[in-house]
Amino acid sequence: MTVDSNKLFINGDWISAGGTFPIHDPATGEIVGYAADAEQSHALLAVEAAHTAFPTWSKTPAPKRSALLYRWYELIMEHRDEIATLLTCEMGKPFPEAKGEVSFAANFVLWYAEEAKRIYGDTVPSNEPNKRITVLRQPVGVVSAITPWNFPAAMVTRKVAPALAAGCTVILKPAEQTPLTAIRLVELAEVAGFPAGVFNLVTTSKPAEVGNVLTTDPRVRKVTFTGSTEVGKLLYRQAADTIKRVSLELGGHAPFIVFADAEIDLAVQGVIASKYRNAGQTCICTNRVYVHESIAASFAEKLRQAVSTLQVGPGMKEGVHIGPLIDEHALAKVERHVEDALAKGATLLIGGSREGEQGYFFQATVLNHATEDMQIATEETFGPVAPIFTFQSEEEVLARANDTPYGLAAYFYTRDIGRVTRMQENLEYGIIGVNDPAPSVAIQAPFGGVKESGLAREGGKYGLDAFLETKYISLAFA
Ligand code: NAD
Repeated sequence: MTVDSNKLFINGDWISAGGTFPIHDPATGEIVGYAADAEQSHALLAVEAAHTAFPTWSKTPAPKRSALLYRWYELIMEHRDEIATLLTCEMGKPFPEAKGEVSFAANFVLWYAEEAKRIYGDTVPSNEPNKRITVLRQPVGVVSAITPWNFPAAMVTRKVAPALAAGCTVILKPAEQTPLTAIRLVELAEVAGFPAGVFNLVTTSKPAEVGNVLTTDPRVRKVTFTGSTEVGKLLYRQAADTIKRVSLELGGHAPFIVFADAEIDLAVQGVIASKYRNAGQTCICTNRVYVHESIAASFAEKLRQAVSTLQVGPGMKEGVHIGPLIDEHALAKVERHVEDALAKGATLLIGGSREGEQGYFFQATVLNHATEDMQIATEETFGPVAPIFTFQSEEEVLARANDTPYGLAAYFYTRDIGRVTRMQENLEYGIIGVNDPAPSVAIQAPFGGVKESGLAREGGKYGLDAFLETKYISLAFA
């Protein structure tokens, strides 16, 4: 499948950027399409368009905004398989996972189509008989949305749908590795009928230059970003001068703790689901598996067996569980983490190397006897490698799990209700899976991290809040 979409979508028109850049299939290295290569001047045009469209869009009645979002949802679902094919071609994830992502992405649009009609303010009791206090919820203004490559569809709609529902106008800048899915989503939004300038798209191979405009222009009032902690910190600083509202969904380093009383088979399946999905390239992927020492040997053997059934291969091939990593750089990082762990005393239970000669495949890997001095214990691996650490006590494992600047997702398995209560309250993470490896699939729940994993939440009513200002009106009368 080859797509040639070499235009930017600004102010309701597809315009040329002058140049284009190629997008590669990580399973083969082949070019699967081209995207328009925006410069700073195009970002400025997009900001101007969004700024001009804002007064009318923000005053458009909520049922009308809702209807447009609902139409967009229907169109995404009608084109689900086509978008999923595109997604697999540019990003690599297995086709069934890609279909799941497109449905997940569409469901954010559906959810916010509904929520658009439920943006309520308050009336607050006043101290005096001839005064009234009203609280309005109003759209924050022009929004810059910057998205990563690992969920090319869902990260777009998780930001754009609530922003549009709130009455904000948007400039979307997708990741340079995966712009084709975003382009298709914008094409469908155009068909749905959003007015000119309400939803703009700038694709670019120069994210720092274009991103600078999107995070510093005073007409932009909100930056919503998903990506690495490193880039997130930079954008936070850039947005500071004009005190923009900022939502940041950044990196993670999820612990997965298996207590001695856990249902071991369930926990093994939990690691499979939370570690190897998307080839280990999700921000909430398990990074450290802590197993109580009394069950560590049998757990490791069961995990090795379960991992041996996972098939690595191109995402469009039937039966494949793990697709390629996104690029050579990602592959090199995973290789480095494994080599470093082995050099520092870990043992290899399965996998451990690059797979095949074409594309960026890495074998599903389990490392035993991992220790905290290894890179894999502190850095996000973003690959299909599960390192097993052992622990002795609840107190000890809690301290080790929290000993990281990250705080996105954490998982633990136990059947002890007291332990459930203590752990869920004391883990310093934004999302906790208790005997559950997939807490993130609920679009209605608040998704986001604490510490250096981010700011604010996406999903559900929380995701809408991030695009609303609170205005207090005090009315005095005779
Ligand atoms: P990245 O930070 O390299 O890129 C993310 C986006 O930022 C891309 O669109 C990129 O073009 C853009 N960007 C890069 N430099 C920029 C700059 N100087 N100015 C403006 N924009 C710039 O991250 P990535 O490699 O695409 O994504 C992987 C990371 O994202 C991982 O750390 C992962 O944990 C994180 N992530 C977090 C969540 C979450 O919800 N917390 C979800 C998915 C991914």
